[in-house]
Amino acid sequence: MSERVGLGFDSHRFESGRPLVLGGTRLPFEMGLGGHSDGDILIHAVVDALLGATGRGNIGEWFPDTDAAHKGADSAILLGRVWRDLAAAGWRVVNLDCVVIAEQPRLGPHLGAMRERLAGLLECGPEVVSVKPKTAEGLGFAGQGEGMAALVVVLLAIARPSSPPDASR
Ligand code: MG
Repeated sequence: MSERVGLGFDSHRFESGRPLVLGGTRLPFEMGLGGHSDGDILIHAVVDALLGATGRGNIGEWFPDTDAAHKGADSAILLGRVWRDLAAAGWRVVNLDCVVIAEQPRLGPHLGAMRERLAGLLECGPEVVSVKPKTAEGLGFAGQGEGMAALVVVLLAIARPSSPPDASR
């Protein structure tokens, strides 16, 4: 068994006239997150954590924002594509720990739905997925309500075939 840890971060500004999608879950709020795709910072940070853990580059290399095919993209579909690649190589999620920094909206009522959705996309149990809301006490862009940020750590494991017998003996 071999294990790898990965770290992901993302932040986007709020924009009016867009739905708020976080962790693949639609949240009721008067603004959404801007960006080329649906602006789902939590999923973007998860993707970068997965890619970082496995040395597969970063989300911008996989899904360039210059590619019109990704405009308005459902980030859950992008995560699904990345996860299929990792799962095919034999990786599985040991645990995923997320922090979402936002002054508004209140995320508490939606944490369970986000955990369930992320677990479904990553083919793991929701008990190994954590999403923790954090306010910024009025400081910086998140604290001033200009946008949101997400931090993600993932631990992945892969079963390695046992070492071949030592031929020199
Ligand atoms: Mg992003």
